[in-house]
Amino acid sequence: GELQRLDKVLANLGYGSRKDVKKMIKNGAVEIEDIVAVDPEIKIDPETQTIKVNGRKIEYRKYIYLMLNKPQGVITATEDRRLHTVLDLIDEEYLKFEPSPVGRLDKDTEGLLLLTNDGMLNHNLTSPRKNIDKEYYAEISGRVGVKDIEDFNRGVLLDDGYKTMPADLKILEESEVSKVIITIKEGKYHQVKRMFEAVGKKVIYLKRLSMGNLKLDENLRPGEYRELTEQEIEGLK
Ligand code: URA
Repeated sequence: GELQRLDKVLANLGYGSRKDVKKMIKNGAVEIEDIVAVDPEIKIDPETQTIKVNGRKIEYRKYIYLMLNKPQGVITATEDRRLHTVLDLIDEEYLKFEPSPVGRLDKDTEGLLLLTNDGMLNHNLTSPRKNIDKEYYAEISGRVGVKDIEDFNRGVLLDDGYKTMPADLKILEESEVSKVIITIKEGKYHQVKRMFEAVGKKVIYLKRLSMGNLKLDENLRPGEYRELTEQEIEGLK
């Protein structure tokens, strides 16, 4: 692993502010390879060197993986001068790891949004060549029928002339406001909304349920998030 300043490593792991951890180090509370550290700025490799705080070995981690149930009204960006972003919902203990959203949900879309600082995983899940399944629950103004299922299976022409890859459509309820599950393999801008526009209908509610093997934890209310389990992380790789 790479060499990093001891005070930064400890602060990032949640042992307090940079000032707090400097004090801990000055007080002799921190050991590197069983030797008391005196210099907060000493460079260490937390991946291979043993760090103890108050005699207890600490668990080092480089990556964090968060599952957010994105609420409506926040944008999928890391900063914005006017609007609230998904990062405004995340606590400082995780922001220290500098997570980024994996893919994008519209301001009015809810549901599964993964946030991570694992750039490789982020790239793999969003690369257009990987065709990861993204599943959405949608409410549609107008009657969605068998013809729409066929059209989506074949691919539809979007307003810019792009022909979508085959998408799977399941109708849960066919009525004036239809309820459907749609699974797409791409992630074009406003894709689900534009696919329904292509067949003359309008999405009035959209929620992402899953991405690849990762399913939204239905215990998370909009705006809530949790860390992924080891199994969930493995399932994405
Ligand atoms: N498709 C959309 O139109 N919007 C989203 O937020 C996600 C997929």
